[in-house]
Amino acid sequence: MAAPEPNLSPLAAPVISVWGVGEERAKLLARLDIFTVEDLLLHKPRRYEDRRKFLPIRELKLNEPATVRGIIVAAGSKRFKKGTRAMFECVFDDGTARLHGRWWQAQPWMADWFTVGREFLIYGKLEDVKKPRTFTHPETELVEPGDDEFVHVNRIVPVHPLTEGLTARVMRSLVWRALEKFETEIAEPVWSRFQVESSRVQESKGDTAAALKPSTFNLQPSTLLPSRANAVRMIQFPGELTDVELARQRLALDEFVALQFQIQSRRKKFEAASKALPCGGDNRLMKPFLAQLGFKLTAAQTNVLREIRADLGGAHPMRRLLQGDVGSGKTAVAACSALMALESGFNVALMAPTEILAEQHFRNFSTWFAPLGVKVGLQTGSRKSGDDSGWKMEDDKRVGPSSLQPPASIFVGTHALFTAGFDLPKLGLVIIDEQHKFGVAQRETLVRKGNYPHLLVMTATPIPRTLGLTLYGDLHVSVIDEMPGGRGQIKTFARTTEKLPKVFDFIREKIVAGRQAYIVYPRVEVADTDKDIKAVTQEFANVQKALPAVKVGLLHGRIKPADKEKVMAGFRANKIQALVATSLIEVGVDVPNATVMLIENAEHFGLAQLHQLRGRIGRGAHESFCILISDAQNAEAQARLKILEETNDGFKIAEADLKLRGPGELLGQQQSGAMKLRFGDLAEDLHLIRQARGLVAKMF
Ligand code: ADP
Ligand code: MG
Repeated sequence: MAAPEPNLSPLAAPVISVWGVGEERAKLLARLDIFTVEDLLLHKPRRYEDRRKFLPIRELKLNEPATVRGIIVAAGSKRFKKGTRAMFECVFDDGTARLHGRWWQAQPWMADWFTVGREFLIYGKLEDVKKPRTFTHPETELVEPGDDEFVHVNRIVPVHPLTEGLTARVMRSLVWRALEKFETEIAEPVWSRFQVESSRVQESKGDTAAALKPSTFNLQPSTLLPSRANAVRMIQFPGELTDVELARQRLALDEFVALQFQIQSRRKKFEAASKALPCGGDNRLMKPFLAQLGFKLTAAQTNVLREIRADLGGAHPMRRLLQGDVGSGKTAVAACSALMALESGFNVALMAPTEILAEQHFRNFSTWFAPLGVKVGLQTGSRKSGDDSGWKMEDDKRVGPSSLQPPASIFVGTHALFTAGFDLPKLGLVIIDEQHKFGVAQRETLVRKGNYPHLLVMTATPIPRTLGLTLYGDLHVSVIDEMPGGRGQIKTFARTTEKLPKVFDFIREKIVAGRQAYIVYPRVEVADTDKDIKAVTQEFANVQKALPAVKVGLLHGRIKPADKEKVMAGFRANKIQALVATSLIEVGVDVPNATVMLIENAEHFGLAQLHQLRGRIGRGAHESFCILISDAQNAEAQARLKILEETNDGFKIAEADLKLRGPGELLGQQQSGAMKLRFGDLAEDLHLIRQARGLVAKMF
């Protein structure tokens, strides 16, 4: 597949080449990110109006938006009281009845615009049965008899997103003219040409059935989606409202194909440029490791490890995403993967998003690997500033990486691992834990530092499939879809602050029975601007009061790293029974004896984040309890908490989250760099994304 051709399409011409667009309008259009003819053609209408038949004003119904057409018979501004703002009102008549249009704030231009005798289209709704019939702040459009008249009436018309100085009518005219002049230039993209070829190829192999499966898009006569040119016309000036969705899907498919093409080209380029280090291992360390681990790997863990081993022994460096809900046992998988590389004589780096998590991994790996004779080093940002060489070894001697003699060393750390002049000899495998905390760009630079080591990224944020296919299209995905057995249930309750005293009684009961609790607040300190959001530094004392005779610890981001370590050690040893913390503990922390999680101001956390936090409990054999405290009244916040009460399935939660919030936040920094989707919807278009992925896979 050749590189995409440079964009010589006439559609790439500046928007000024559309008749009616001069310097001034070009500037206004730029505010809407419309720079080229193509941008204008793809300016997605925000709604449509069926103007084939106008509703008589007499037939307007309460709360049903409608467009009517009327001539102004009276207009003017009035002031109810001296000193108050003037409002503007005009009266439209369509021969069946009269309709008042009302704007609470009269603007100077209104009196000149809404003049008696002019005809307008008025879109709005009656909100009151009282007479006179009134639309408050309706959308209006002047009916100007002229060449363009047929663009604006007697059809379904688009109403576009606008900017001050550009009316709906002008925008519609511009789009119409752009279509008239450029429609024939709207070419089918390269991929669909290819699709025809690929069908032929398949035909020659006698496999027409597969090529023409009705579920896949193709350009045979039985085409299911419109051509791109038709789709553009249909999205702007649909013949029927049902055309709109078909057209949108076609244009979305083009977007997803382009996106997949980007992703998969990157992957191909990478594979062509890099040769894999042989890291498949020989079980020399693995066998004794598994024997002393204390539990048997789940079938899901074993399956994933089989995939990883195939990658590590394969021709191309591994690029794999390991998805597994919180508590599914990703660390053990990381350890086994590390051993494969170590057995093969290569070093391994393991990066965690927080110091606490890095410390925890360091401790785990040290215990696991010491009997195997594998050295483990730790590097975190704070450690580095306190101590030049920066490396902590299991015997607590600090040494530089050069004295960690390969083969067979593993380096654990935060991103400091890669920023601090990191240059490990014989780096065979990089493991990134909790991938969602790192952007794609970070991931790339990180791996490029080595000589194309294998890469395993692990995430507990179940990435909805749509996002997975788009964001991580350059990674292969493995899923741990099974929890280790012998775990207690997690029960989740949403409550209001009124119930807090009872909740604290409950927590005390559990602590007396030997368990431990996390108590989480959104803030470190109370902010002046929002005193209602609770903060750990303030609540710490309250918790101590509410839990007399309980040892309470405090943990947040502004505590010195050495002290953080101490607090975590105390909590692990059950010397601290209740840990008051910020969401700092959301990732990775693993203390199986902790069975209660109390989260106050729960509405201030995202759904995925609450699920992560909840993942800190339910790690041992005891039954666990998550209590979400919130007084929030708004529907979205309540919906979030309800989902958590109903399910513990991270995958369902992620999908719900995507629907509630849209993909923006989930994409986060990952979105920059990815192309902007005008028509594609990451929350809804799974089938199109799959189709696009399949199409692009055939292109290579
Ligand atoms: P996460 O996937 O969230 O990173 P962890 O790796 O922290 O999960 O594992 C959670 C807990 O489950 C740890 O205490 C770990 O030792 C334990 N664990 C992992 N795998 C198994 C298994 N196969 N059987 C029993 N316990 C396991
Ligand atoms: Mg983990």
